[in-house]
Amino acid sequence: MADLILKPGKERAVQARHPWIFAQSVAKVVGRVENGGTVRVCAHDGTPLARAGISFTSGIRARIWRFEPDQPVDHAFFRRRVAQAVAWRARHPTLAGQSGVRLVHGEADGLPGVIVDRYGSVAVLQITFAGAERWRDAIVEALVRACPDLCAVYERSDSEVRQREGLAPRAGLLWGTLPETVTIDEYGVRFAVDIAEGHKTGFYLDQRENRRLVQQLASGMRVLNTFCYTGGFSLHALKGGAAEVWSVDSSAPALAGLTKNLALNAELPTDRSRVLEADVFSGLREWFQAGERFDLVILDPPKFAPSAAHVPKAKRAYRDINLFGMRLVRPGGYLMTYSCSGGIGVEEFQALVATCAAENRRSGQIVARLSAGADHPIGLGAPEGEYLKGLLVRLD
Ligand code: SAH
Repeated sequence: MADLILKPGKERAVQARHPWIFAQSVAKVVGRVENGGTVRVCAHDGTPLARAGISFTSGIRARIWRFEPDQPVDHAFFRRRVAQAVAWRARHPTLAGQSGVRLVHGEADGLPGVIVDRYGSVAVLQITFAGAERWRDAIVEALVRACPDLCAVYERSDSEVRQREGLAPRAGLLWGTLPETVTIDEYGVRFAVDIAEGHKTGFYLDQRENRRLVQQLASGMRVLNTFCYTGGFSLHALKGGAAEVWSVDSSAPALAGLTKNLALNAELPTDRSRVLEADVFSGLREWFQAGERFDLVILDPPKFAPSAAHVPKAKRAYRDINLFGMRLVRPGGYLMTYSCSGGIGVEEFQALVATCAAENRRSGQIVARLSAGADHPIGLGAPEGEYLKGLLVRLD
């Protein structure tokens, strides 16, 4: 096996169990290894530290599989890691029994670059790391073994981040038979999940608990749900007894999904729902001018800053929607605002929202900090990731 030798001092991050080795930390690679192959990670003095998968095209040159340098990375390793990830979810009080749940969350489950989302009896796999790409068959086999009631494993490795790993997009059935429709139940609301064409792996599971919060909050409220996609927050607001719900998205297919989801929940008062195909940036200004006001405004935009280079522009976009979104909130109402941009930290996001409130001469109280559910754990000591950050702010 080839050895990846770190520069002096760079062993400290590995000893602290950081799962990534950046290209700048590598002194040399001794021996032959192909892209995605397993290497032994050693300190500059030769002390073995870990086993990792190597990725020659990525700035994250290697991702650690295990911190025992003498133990193998093999089929049994993947079987154990996948089984453990599945078992944790099965034992968790809010996750057990969910029909839409993330079973594997990358590094935090000891499986870098591997995402598995489960929708009913379908598991959707996404691979975003050259090292994991080599173990696809082992991962599928491990999944089928750990979840005996699956009927299909489908791959949605079509995320743009694969380019950094030198990997081409891939999608399609890996195992079993895909049912014609896949429906999940989330706290009493049904959603159709488009496995082949939906965003990410088909649905935004990371907002499950926050959608539930909206259901709990919405009674009697006039709700504006911007960037609504297939209506996750909108349906939960209706379920929670909202007086009126506006759903806004610029994508016609997303709104077609919303219409389908409304039909799947026929008992909900769909006459209280208004669906608008519009650009949120201009819409917020228009509705303000028209005198529309809401008790709850939800801002859940796409990732404005996919990398550090996009941060200044992204900040302007977050500022814009938060500034104008707030103006639509009645005194005593709520703003629920999110960012999933890796380059903008929690504190920074909060400061940005606070500045918008001050500019609007409003004072705001954070009544909840919002994050993704327990099925999206964040590794202790992990870098500021592209995880979900949100605030529920009460505005006077
Ligand atoms: N809140 C959703 C997920 C939002 S995803 C849920 O819980 O399921 C982001 C959505 O924003 C996508 O559906 C995309 O079509 C939409 N979008 C992106 N830019 C937009 C814009 N400028 N105006 C309106 N919608 C936009």
